Amino acid sequence: MKTCKFMFIRPVLRALQTLTMSDKYNIAFVLGGPGAGKGTQCSKIVEEFGYVHLSAGDLLREERAKLGSEFGELIEGHIKNGTIVPVEITCSLLERAMKDSKKNEFLIDGFPRNQDNLEGWNKQMGDKVNLKFVLFFECPLNVCTQRCLDRGAAGSGRADDNMESLKKRFNTYMTATMPIIEHYESLDLVRKIDATQSPDEVFEEVKKLFT
Ligand code: UDP
Ligand code: MG
Repeated sequence: MKTCKFMFIRPVLRALQTLTMSDKYNIAFVLGGPGAGKGTQCSKIVEEFGYVHLSAGDLLREERAKLGSEFGELIEGHIKNGTIVPVEITCSLLERAMKDSKKNEFLIDGFPRNQDNLEGWNKQMGDKVNLKFVLFFECPLNVCTQRCLDRGAAGSGRADDNMESLKKRFNTYMTATMPIIEHYESLDLVRKIDATQSPDEVFEEVKKLFT
């Protein structure tokens, strides 16, 4: 008799869960310093767990590259300076990419990066998403710097993989992004990963959060 009851409850619970989740996008924010490995790990998560990877930086670079984009110059200036593009632009690019994908599970990489991003996102997207957690790749400044310089030397083609831009990016990260991570920490939403190991070793830790 008892077994029968449980057999009935499980599928009902699952159906209920699907119903309550399906009207919202499921997202995880992915944060960490420049070169911490956000993009690398996101690709691995996509391969193994089928999320859609949206890098705010990549979306901005794409927008900048578009012929006739009214925001091209503004974006270029912020990227070189390591400062943050106004949230209305970044948030709209993210929302459009989410809609266009027709999917429901997203890794949002490199966002929100400051208070303006956080507030703008909550205003525009707060009711449309279910934030699962914030994946935080912790990596010391010297390791991050070396990785970005190596990436630049290997031909990343990025306007900001040089020492001058890096200094500014780190400054923005420490002063503007760390408080956002602390904010999510106070909500118990941060999942911290040691990002100093090799990509495969780091991914072993990442996997545990998705299984
Ligand atoms: N950027 C921004 N808003 C964002 C994400 C990126 O303004 O939400 C800009 C910012 O100038 C940043 C640059 O894009 O320094 C590069 O960001 P990306 O995420 O590509 O760098 P990463 O952290 O991956 O090294
Ligand atoms: Mg990146």
